[in-house]
Amino acid sequence: MQSALKMLLEVDEHTAAVLDGQSRIANWLYNHLLEEANTLREKFRSTQDPEAAKVLYTKRGLRNRIPMLKKEYPFLRTVYSSVLKNAALRLSSAIQEYQKGRHGGRAKRVNWPKFRSWKRKWFSLQYDEPWKGFRLDGRTLVLSLGMAMDEATGKRKQVHVSTRLAEPLPDWFDSDKVRQLRIVKEGRLFYAVFTVERPVPSRRPVGRVIALDPNHKNLGYGVGTDGVATEILNPWFLKILDRRIDEVKSLRDRCQRKSVRAVREDGTEAWLPSRRWRKLNVRLEELWRVRREQTKVYLRTVANRLYREYDAVFVGDYAPHGGGISRGMRRAMNNQSLIGRFKETLAWVATRSGKVYGEWDEDGSTRTCHACHYKVPEGIPPEVREWTCPECGSRHLRDENAAMNGLAQVLKKVEVPCSGRLGGRVAVWTRRAWRFDGLGIAEMPGIVGGRVGDHAAGRQEIK
Ligand SMILES: [Zn+2]
Repeated sequence: MQSALKMLLEVDEHTAAVLDGQSRIANWLYNHLLEEANTLREKFRSTQDPEAAKVLYTKRGLRNRIPMLKKEYPFLRTVYSSVLKNAALRLSSAIQEYQKGRHGGRAKRVNWPKFRSWKRKWFSLQYDEPWKGFRLDGRTLVLSLGMAMDEATGKRKQVHVSTRLAEPLPDWFDSDKVRQLRIVKEGRLFYAVFTVERPVPSRRPVGRVIALDPNHKNLGYGVGTDGVATEILNPWFLKILDRRIDEVKSLRDRCQRKSVRAVREDGTEAWLPSRRWRKLNVRLEELWRVRREQTKVYLRTVANRLYREYDAVFVGDYAPHGGGISRGMRRAMNNQSLIGRFKETLAWVATRSGKVYGEWDEDGSTRTCHACHYKVPEGIPPEVREWTCPECGSRHLRDENAAMNGLAQVLKKVEVPCSGRLGGRVAVWTRRAWRFDGLGIAEMPGIVGGRVGDHAAGRQEIK
């Protein structure tokens, strides 16, 4: 399997300008080839010229145009060959996706490629062969650019720039397994994305299992075969960020989107957003980027911690209830996609570490008493956090009861070597809560009915 390793780069001002320049030229090449492609497409439509089709519709047709273009536009030589090549390949594959969509080769139709605006999206620099055009010297990452004339010798020579990885490489990083490198820029930050081949570890037998019930209040509430109940809290920074995003967005939307009149080269008119709108929009995009980045770290940290303690993690196949649109709808949708991403992260960590990921059927799990299986006919309203089973009198924590039903369901299906002694029954001995502090997870005593348990040991023992 291949995985991507994304490392933040320390880049000085000069190097940043050089990398921007490389990206601009790659972007220029993409647009230039697209212009050619548009002409060829017209030509092919009217003449059915097979030569036009060959350039346009084959994998390498556009790439083979590069040597000619280099003669015509010498500045292309200042960019490393595989970066240029990939700009052409990217366009060809976009055209091929369009063709596939037209001929039913893919489920969704895609549009014919559009011109790319470098200002809107930085064109990534792709080095698609192992260690060709880049090398690592400790934490120093050296990138090859194109050729330049050497004043002293009068010969052309390869130019390089140096950047530095902001953090050390992880232990598992093996330079023999590196397949390619992509340099990307997000906001003002540069990243190196290595594609690394990693062996898939063989699956170990399942020992400890946890079933998680995802919901709005927290990321999830889990009960494990070890008798530990874990509440995974949503991170505090999401609330702050979301509030900030709302503020900036409402400021931006109060500005005029169409305030400056501009005239295009062809004489038609266009309206551009005001300067303030654009400024706020940049800030908003930066906030969204930070949100994506921080939630990624959060989800990855939680997933790693879960698989350190458990061999199998099963998550309820959360389906939103009720069709009405409520005020908290947007937030809830955000959380839903958070849970979606959490599931993807879990599946990814499981594959990487040879562990098991799965889902369980959540239908009716909240309103069913895990002790006597009585189903509360009218269901349990969302605001009710604790309830008593009218049939057997058991007192339930809403989320814990749902997770216990999940675990019982999972244990029926999955063969767990040591679950025999549980006799299919699940019990909770102790409760804890996980709070993500931006770096790691702080484990705290579980909170029951709004009260923190008095045990200082980090876990709340249940008598
Ligand atoms: Zn009951």
